[in-house]
Amino acid sequence: MNDKNTLLRNLPSVDRLLNEPAMRDLADCIPQAMRAEAARQTVAALRSEFLAGTSPDLSAAVIAARAAALARAKAAPALRRVLNLTGTLLHTNLGRAPLAPAAIESIDAVSRGYSNLEFDLESGERGHRYSHVEELLRHLSGAEAATVVNNNAGAVLLALTALAKGKEAIVSRGEMIEIGGAFRVPEVMAAGGVILREVGTTNKTHLRDYVEAIGEETGLLLKVHTSNYRIVGFTASVSAAEMVELGRERGIPVMEDLGSGMLIDLSSFGLPREPTVAEAVAAGIDVVTFSGDKLLGGPQAGIIVGRRDAVEKIRRHPMARALRSDKLTLTALETTLRLYLDPRRALADIPVLRMLAVPEEELKKRCLRLRRSLRTACGERLQTSVVPENSTVGGGALPLTELPGYALALTAAGLSADALAARLRTGDPPVVGRIREDRLLLNPRTLSGEEEKDLIRAVSAALTSE
Ligand SMILES: *Cc1c(COP(=O)(O)O)cnc(C)c1O
Repeated sequence: MNDKNTLLRNLPSVDRLLNEPAMRDLADCIPQAMRAEAARQTVAALRSEFLAGTSPDLSAAVIAARAAALARAKAAPALRRVLNLTGTLLHTNLGRAPLAPAAIESIDAVSRGYSNLEFDLESGERGHRYSHVEELLRHLSGAEAATVVNNNAGAVLLALTALAKGKEAIVSRGEMIEIGGAFRVPEVMAAGGVILREVGTTNKTHLRDYVEAIGEETGLLLKVHTSNYRIVGFTASVSAAEMVELGRERGIPVMEDLGSGMLIDLSSFGLPREPTVAEAVAAGIDVVTFSGDKLLGGPQAGIIVGRRDAVEKIRRHPMARALRSDKLTLTALETTLRLYLDPRRALADIPVLRMLAVPEEELKKRCLRLRRSLRTACGERLQTSVVPENSTVGGGALPLTELPGYALALTAAGLSADALAARLRTGDPPVVGRIREDRLLLNPRTLSGEEEKDLIRAVSAALTSE
């Protein structure tokens, strides 16, 4: 016991650690407060490890090396690039859509200095923030007017409030969705001061259900795209066109939350047909909302298109200012939308669309190429095989669609699949895969050509790290 106390008393002080070579080397690149914090935390950790019965090396040089590693970790950027090999294209936790090169260049150009964000260069007068994207959105959707906010959840909240605050919005029980991150239709309505009037049943809603629910209090007919689930079997729902006809008859606006919102028809990829924004507009929906960073493949944004008077009301609502988009988002969105003016350009340059379209054979080739490189880099420690593995779209879009392909299955000598996955996640760059049947699966559909060498390096480092 006395020994223990003596040892604990003899743990080096923070000052002593800061003067050890390993810590002194960091003096130029890591602020003093951060180095001191790392030293304090390291000593505290050692104390608990020691009291828990382990016998860590208590020499000042060894402790300083550990504190230096912690200080370096604290000083490194916290939000980082990650290699996504999960097989999910629009992984919300991994940042959804990667941007097109042109969009990244535009962010660079606009963020380095000043921009004409709200300045009309022709007249020299104040301009409009959303003018840079409005014409493009009108053109691509066929709508009379368009505006943008921070994300689609914000777009829905703002549109509901602006159009129907204090009144009822009628929604089918089959469309009462929850999206990840606590976006639930009933709660968003309550937050917007709109009274929810549910109609129909989970599996069947008919036009007469809406007709019967309409009254003095009705302010809006709302249609919500069931983006992340499907109701199958004995079902019925009311089409956009029928809702529009009813809304027109009774003088009630109709809004549709499309969720992902595609600008082009994806059936050419062999994917199920998703309603496009232009179709919703052509059906006569007054206000259509959708995300910028789902299948559209742009930055996080909530896009609102529709009839001029309705969009004007939304734009002028005080909450629009609280949800406004910044210049980096707007330039990236503008550039992404421009690519859609030529659908072939869009398919070639927008990463999400390219990833959707990768043929199975190409995925097999990628796996075989990675396998060869990993053999060279890692030798006997790693066993690899190429296995059939589907991808999913994710991000609450096309929930039933499985994109067939291949993945590389890894097992490492002396490491469980969990341990290998953990090493890869904490490596540089971090690699995120998926575990199945005790093997780590790396799905290369979402890996760009330039990232392949980074992946090889990361796997090789994971096998040699301690
Ligand atoms: C994804 C989604 C939302 C939320 O959009 P964010 O851009 O994530 O805010 C809202 N409604 C539907 C139907 C969705 O699919």
